[in-house]
Amino acid sequence: MFDNSSSPWDRRKFLGAVLGTSSAVFGLVAPEKVLAARFIDAVQTSRQPDYTRYVFNVNGPLDYKTFSLDNPPRVVVDLTGTEAQHLEIPSVPAGSVVNGLRVGIQDGTNLRLVFDLKAAVKPRLVLLPPGGGMGYRLVVDLPHDKAVTLVAKETADPESKPKIQTGRTFRELVVAIDPGHGGKDPGAMGHRGTKEKHIVLDIGRRLRDMVAAAPGLRPVMTRDSDRFIHLRGRTAIARNAKADLFISVHSDAFRVTSARGASVFCLSQHGATSEAARWMANRENEADFVGGASISDHDQDVASVLLDLSQTKTLENSLDFAHRVLGQIGDVTDLHSKRVQQAGFVVLKSPDIPSILVESAFISNPEEEARLRTVKYQNEIARSILDGINTYYAARAPEGTHYAML
Ligand SMILES: [Zn+2]
Repeated sequence: MFDNSSSPWDRRKFLGAVLGTSSAVFGLVAPEKVLAARFIDAVQTSRQPDYTRYVFNVNGPLDYKTFSLDNPPRVVVDLTGTEAQHLEIPSVPAGSVVNGLRVGIQDGTNLRLVFDLKAAVKPRLVLLPPGGGMGYRLVVDLPHDKAVTLVAKETADPESKPKIQTGRTFRELVVAIDPGHGGKDPGAMGHRGTKEKHIVLDIGRRLRDMVAAAPGLRPVMTRDSDRFIHLRGRTAIARNAKADLFISVHSDAFRVTSARGASVFCLSQHGATSEAARWMANRENEADFVGGASISDHDQDVASVLLDLSQTKTLENSLDFAHRVLGQIGDVTDLHSKRVQQAGFVVLKSPDIPSILVESAFISNPEEEARLRTVKYQNEIARSILDGINTYYAARAPEGTHYAML
């Protein structure tokens, strides 16, 4: 046990020394007792608003049990028949309830994780099945307060296999282009009477043609005419088209005509959190996210962890994408803000589609209104967005896509 004098590392070293120095000793031990079927090769940690999260990458479904110890408070997780491979323990995030994580061997073949805590808390454990390009993951959430949370054990179906690309065909990356406003909603209006809905449709169409001509990419328009679509209708169109990216194009107004320059927006963390609550409230959404992986067979805990992981990753990707587009736009026009802005725009709320909103210029600024009407400027904005898409995917084209084979 951990409570006695020998530390797990000593134990492990001892085991390694015995096995490494004498084949005779090795022969005394049945191989299946020594060779672990499962291994953990990566761990990540992050501080969320209510808890500290550890995510362990596992090479398959595994059995585990967890219990708590006092003086000092610890949470112990034993993983049956599991070992650690090249595991680097990350440092504890600031403001966490966790003091540290220790990893060692327990009973020869089990891996023991010990979370040293500042206060006794009930952990939440979930084993996530493969999805979203990831394999099995064991998620350990340690709440910051003493609120009692459910200890859930979810054994993934051992029969389920990760999706493997079998065909010779590779899919195109789908880029959803969303010209803002339309129909009865003209959007902002310039001094010369230019309507935002027309300008952004023009830019959207130019971007569509560029995306269509780019290898590995396929455009989808939320609207390709002067018609009105609800905000949720726009994200639904992207979702139905299985969009990989979502770009909303605007050219808004400000009460001060001197306001100028382009900007790029992402969803705010607050917007993401409130959206998570909304999604969890709507069971119809459950089967719909994380690469379409159905989670109807799993409990609410798995659903909420999956949604949470998906949202965090999506927001990270949205920010990266937004930075790249902002950098490109900064080469062709003045920026209203040199930083990516974040706000609770409804059209950016898809939990699994990296989404940005581009304010191409201020239509309320007479000078910019004139520029927005030119083919040159419309093409420059569209080209900047396309260049942003290309640098984004050059860094991370998903496997199985045509783009990754370019
Ligand atoms: Zn607008």
